[in-house]
Amino acid sequence: MADLSDVNRIEEYKRNTVSLNSQFRFECQMCGSCCKNRSEAILITGVDIFYASKELGISILDFMDRYTVRYIGGISRLPVAVLREKINGECSLMENNKCSIQNNKPGACAIYPLGRMQEYNGEFVYFTQPNSCPGCLSKKRQTVRDWLQKHNMISKEAEVKAWNKLVLMFSKMLIKNDIRLKPGDVMSQLIVTLLYLGYDTSKPLLAQIEEYIEEAKELFKDEMTEEEL
Ligand code: SF4
Ligand code: SF4
Repeated sequence: MADLSDVNRIEEYKRNTVSLNSQFRFECQMCGSCCKNRSEAILITGVDIFYASKELGISILDFMDRYTVRYIGGISRLPVAVLREKINGECSLMENNKCSIQNNKPGACAIYPLGRMQEYNGEFVYFTQPNSCPGCLSKKRQTVRDWLQKHNMISKEAEVKAWNKLVLMFSKMLIKNDIRLKPGDVMSQLIVTLLYLGYDTSKPLLAQIEEYIEEAKELFKDEMTEEEL
């Protein structure tokens, strides 16, 4: 069940929804303050991790060890990864006050100052976020579409939707069967592999996620209905 903060967030996004043709004012001033001492950790998806590892030229396992912290999500019951912080409160991916993965920032960072939610019909809805970022005082205007294209968000959309589908399948299976994962147990390791670790960064991502979706369907076919899958 959604808690109050989730409900407030959903209300917030509904009030501030923007279309792809909407314009908003923003130009990053490179102050770096959104990458330091954050009150909320930044979630990083399997798609984010795939492209960030590729940009840095390191393995996904290495990336996860160096730049993420993992825990089991209370509501989804799934292994969740968030960006690790350095001891000084900076994001572990920050170097000389700049993001070290400029071309493949995690979706949550790349899309800022916009936010994105996926509706029940699978489509994304975009909204402006309340913030105190100096970049929003700029006079520079752009459309939502141009902003998403500039940050490779549109080219990754099919992959993000497929990955979210995989996430939802695992989450529903765990909730339906009242399974609570423990870090390191066999089911947990399997899900971590299918959501994060088990991808070859030299091959296209979408086909790999789709293959895992088919494997998961086969694995859960006796426990879940077709609609749930
Ligand atoms: S997005 Fe805003 S807070 Fe973050 S570095 Fe740019 S200007 Fe600073
Ligand atoms: S990944 Fe990059 S943009 Fe996102 S918080 Fe870290 S340094 Fe900032």
